[in-house]
Amino acid sequence: MNAPNTAGWRPEMTSNGAATPLPATASGDRGLALEEPLIFELAAPGGTGVDLPEASAAPVAGLSRHLRKTPPALPGLSEPEVVRHYTRLSRQNYAIDLGPFPLGSCTMKHNPRLNERVARLPGFADIHPMQPRATVPGAIEAIAQLADWLMVLTGMAGVALSPKAGAHGELCGLLAIRAAVEARGEDRPVVLVPTSAHGTNPATAAFAGFRVEAIPATDDGRVDLAALTARLADGAGGDVAGVMITNPNTCGLFERDMPAISAAVHAAGGYVYCDGANFNAIVGRVRPGDLGVDAMHINLHKTFSTPHGGGGPGSGPVVLSDRLAAYAPLPFVRRDDDGVAHLVEEEDLSSLPGAAPFGRMAAFHGQMGMFVRALAYMLSHGGDGLAQVANDAVLNANYVLRSLQDVLHAPFADAGPCMHEALFTDDELGEGVTTLDIAKGLIDEGFHPMTVYFPLVVHGAMLIEPTETESRAGLDRFISSMRSLAARAKAGDPSLKTAPHYTPRRRVDETLAARKPRLVWQG
Ligand SMILES: *Cc1c(COP(=O)(O)O)cnc(C)c1O
Repeated sequence: MNAPNTAGWRPEMTSNGAATPLPATASGDRGLALEEPLIFELAAPGGTGVDLPEASAAPVAGLSRHLRKTPPALPGLSEPEVVRHYTRLSRQNYAIDLGPFPLGSCTMKHNPRLNERVARLPGFADIHPMQPRATVPGAIEAIAQLADWLMVLTGMAGVALSPKAGAHGELCGLLAIRAAVEARGEDRPVVLVPTSAHGTNPATAAFAGFRVEAIPATDDGRVDLAALTARLADGAGGDVAGVMITNPNTCGLFERDMPAISAAVHAAGGYVYCDGANFNAIVGRVRPGDLGVDAMHINLHKTFSTPHGGGGPGSGPVVLSDRLAAYAPLPFVRRDDDGVAHLVEEEDLSSLPGAAPFGRMAAFHGQMGMFVRALAYMLSHGGDGLAQVANDAVLNANYVLRSLQDVLHAPFADAGPCMHEALFTDDELGEGVTTLDIAKGLIDEGFHPMTVYFPLVVHGAMLIEPTETESRAGLDRFISSMRSLAARAKAGDPSLKTAPHYTPRRRVDETLAARKPRLVWQG
């Protein structure tokens, strides 16, 4: 590797031995790679972007005790300075619209612009949740169509649309399970969670008031069915409200024993929660209801291509089996016998004797913009198109797995094809080189890193999910960067240990930042 020498740009950077050093710049910027101070550091003391007449000395009658003693600690900048500051900052973001985002488990796929177009139609974008229902029949019908699609694709009897994200959907599913257990007059304090689960699963179970017990994984990365059935056998499962299983799981593998897992849990009187964040791998191919699942959240911002925007807004509808559908939280949509969609609220329950909602997850119905985007995506793909989404997502992940397994350790590669994501570890990278070094090296290569150190069941995990929206040429570029990084690692290239070299910041102390965040500027 002949990396360009950037010693002139950053004084702390060491030379990689390239021939001609790049010239230093007086500004610290490097072409279009701009340095950006904090807005408080930009602001001249006492500066302002507006001209106001001198304030009259006499305070407004009755307000004198509210007068400021000191000026507000706001940066004093003009409008163009503010606009440039935020625009320069925005250019330091990496985004799915700039390049691949191979974060395993996150399904960072392209957000089709058709969805955006439809979501911006005034009839969807400009309505208000307090508006009289009679003025929004079209929006209610769109919500009902989304509900119909979700139930058909998953083979389930009901759906709660209001949860705002996957983790919120997990909570919704567990609260429905708790309501069902209580309706039977039982006390079941335990939820079983496999060791490979996403961190939100045990966190949700604990938050919902359950005691979490771990189920071990087998050597081939799947739930240990024997351990699970032993835990539930001979009446020992009487304290178990349910299990939370991710399928496909976080090792990128399909849980083949799912029907047997569900049967064992049902026989013990429990319910099966499926973490459906990885539905992208099986949408249109497998209906979780057929595998015995009772509740499953679907991340519209993953499988159904709505944007993952900086932590929100997401949307995590929960589909429910006929054993749990009655407990769906308010509000929900329901079609009457003529097929007309209605919103059901508290005051409508008297005409629905079967409904026993456990409460509500949110004030209103959910994220309308996300519903419209997801429905536009479903309608534009059709059932066959959605099946092809899953096929292509799995094909792309297997292409990555087979193209890298000779240079990176792939723990489950011998177990057959993977699903939508390929799992590697840092086992064979050579002395002292870790997953973190490869992730930081990828930033220099112009890619967002993969998911690192998750799942926890393998050491030094690198979880790569290319999704179906990357082209073969795009995958080849990524693979070639990964192969180059693996080769540098094995050759003992010391510059990998200090990557990234081409970013405005290098290796920040993430632990310190998380433990002692400095959220207020102190001058
Ligand atoms: C993304 C994800 C979640 C959580 O979903 P959010 O929408 O981020 O709350 C849960 N489980 C798995 C496996 C995931 O990938």
